[in-house]
Amino acid sequence: MNAPVNAQANGLDDPLGGLVAALLADDGGKAWPGAVPRRLGAVLDTMPAAARAGVRAAAAAVDAYAAVRTGRRLRGLTPRERESVLSSLAARPSLLPVLDAVKVPVMLAAGTERMLHEEPPLSPAYSPGSAPGSTPGAAPVDPPLDCVPSAHWPDRSTADAVVVGSGAGGAVAARTLARAGMRVVVLEEGRHHTTADFGRRAPLDRFGELYRDGGGTVALGNPPVVLPVGRAVGGTTVVNSGTCYRTPDHVLTRWREKYGLALADVDSFGECLDEVERTVKVATAPLDVLGRNGKTALLGAERLGWRAAPLRRNATGCKGSCQCVVGCPTGAKQSVQLSVLPDACAAGARIVTGAYAQRVLVERDRPGGPRACGVSVRRPDGSELEILSPLVVVAAGALYSPPLLRRSGLGGHPRLGRNLAVHPAASVAGRFAEPVTAWRGVLQSVGVEELHGDGILIEATAGPPGMGSFVLPGVGRELRRELDGAGSLATLGAMIADLPSGRVLGARRTLLRYDLARRDAGRLMRAVEAMGKVLFAAGAEEVLTGVPSAPRARSQDELRELLRKLTARQLHLSAFHPTGTVALGADPQTAPADAEGWLRGVRGVLIADGSALPSCPEVNPQLTVMATALAVTRAAPGVAQSA
Ligand SMILES: Cc1cc2nc3c(=O)[nH]c(=O)nc-3n(C[C@H](O)[C@H](O)[C@H](O)COP(=O)(O)OP(=O)(O)OC[C@H]3O[C@@H](n4cnc5c(N)ncnc54)[C@H](O)[C@@H]3O)c2cc1C
Repeated sequence: MNAPVNAQANGLDDPLGGLVAALLADDGGKAWPGAVPRRLGAVLDTMPAAARAGVRAAAAAVDAYAAVRTGRRLRGLTPRERESVLSSLAARPSLLPVLDAVKVPVMLAAGTERMLHEEPPLSPAYSPGSAPGSTPGAAPVDPPLDCVPSAHWPDRSTADAVVVGSGAGGAVAARTLARAGMRVVVLEEGRHHTTADFGRRAPLDRFGELYRDGGGTVALGNPPVVLPVGRAVGGTTVVNSGTCYRTPDHVLTRWREKYGLALADVDSFGECLDEVERTVKVATAPLDVLGRNGKTALLGAERLGWRAAPLRRNATGCKGSCQCVVGCPTGAKQSVQLSVLPDACAAGARIVTGAYAQRVLVERDRPGGPRACGVSVRRPDGSELEILSPLVVVAAGALYSPPLLRRSGLGGHPRLGRNLAVHPAASVAGRFAEPVTAWRGVLQSVGVEELHGDGILIEATAGPPGMGSFVLPGVGRELRRELDGAGSLATLGAMIADLPSGRVLGARRTLLRYDLARRDAGRLMRAVEAMGKVLFAAGAEEVLTGVPSAPRARSQDELRELLRKLTARQLHLSAFHPTGTVALGADPQTAPADAEGWLRGVRGVLIADGSALPSCPEVNPQLTVMATALAVTRAAPGVAQSA
């Protein structure tokens, strides 16, 4: 088959349709590649305008290159001609990043279409009204929440406490305050999604809705870092992987000694961790649902004599649907909208959805200095409402709390928005002779902790096809072979405990900057080498690095040699754990909030999310964020007395 692609029928502009056909070596022989451009269009629609424009500009540049080389645009070329254009592009290292920028969303769309067309259904979650493990038509019923869309909330109301953000920190803060008898209103910009909603729709259809900016949040730097965060009732916990690490004692000791955080006392913080662990039902992932991705990691680590074990998770009853990052379709993962928020609502808290907190309202001429008196909120239709309250808990997440405070005229502290640590991650894949089918089993299943003392934490992490952070190598037929062979890949990710070398800029629009510290670049290269070691020890035939200019190694020696010539700037980095941008600390010069969580320079504003952590917690942070929110809110006036 050598027909030029019919881009019009694909539903995308010609350059993008042509580029997709070229990348996937679409010769019309299979149906799924033809469906990718339309799916890609839907993916791009959820992304910020700048990202969309970037992808389209890259496609237009490749199209123009094709025209210069061949006299015709990509869509008018035969598959072989398109392949030759892409190969000549890919041979120029300086142009590889352009192709890579397009490949990531194309892989998302291609993974989904290929699976929908060719794989036996991943789970009955694809058929309407059912979820895996449940009788079709009988989706699990979530515990009740008191959610009110902002359209139905009055223009003027009062509360004892307003909590901005319903994620890990906001949920725990709301529950603590409501249980102390306060009238609590939680403001959440996103929507409420139920487990039944998740079961009804394909993973990629959920992706764009559950993540801010369609998952395309990026911190600028060299290399850029993809930093996805959730936007929904439940915040990022709705899309997180369910891994539950307690804050390491040495981190708590550092917070206490270096930053003067009395709340980081190992015993009392330990009690907060115990309480959140009970609430979100933390338990070790059982072997029978782990899946081969995790078992491969265990085998590799065992052969090396390295410390490794199934992870502790908040997903008892997990059926291994491998869809945590797009909302658990079985309701096993106890993200906060299924665990903490129902308790909060039972104690009287109310959640306003589609409620964008524009500003914390401040009375500036009060005796004793400025004092928070409520929050002004914008509804999706642009109309506004105000909730008056003497206490405002800021829990919009480490990337969005600083802009909110700046919009409110509360961004004066010089360190506000700085001190951003992200726990950056790189991932690699190993090809095995036997099928691994990494997307069947627990999404994040096994922790390899041998190098944790050096700040490197390896976790076996897979995802629905196209949705992992690993980028398959090649273009055209090579990429197509990789896609077709994805079932024999096992994937690992490694996060490194980083220095806080990023910052959150902006007030109305958030801009992120992250410059990998030299020490951390070295850690990342070591992490990649270590992941290769685990995979080769488990029997991998080759390891894919994700680096376009040096994509594969057939032995550990080859990998080491290849990494010697690379720098961390060439790695694909992503990060999932932003922290530290409104850090708590005893020193007024360095910490925007005091050691008890109160924002400096104003009374009545409590910080209770990832931004409060003084430094990278060195582990997946959800329990740490929840325990910190518990510690700061339970010490608040009106709560301590009621306990
Ligand atoms: C893909 C992925 C996987 C992860 N996996 C794990 C894991 O396995 N284990 C783990 O420990 N951690 C994991 N994390 C991280 C963890 O989920 C977060 O660290 C945690 O949820 C952060 O809590 P938070 O309260 O700071 O913010 P969030 O949970 O992000 O909540 C902030 C909320 O505030 C809302 N908001 C923001 N601005 C406004 C505004 N102006 N008005 C109203 N609402 C607003 C947002 O919509 C959001 O819902 C993962 C993260 C990602 C992205």
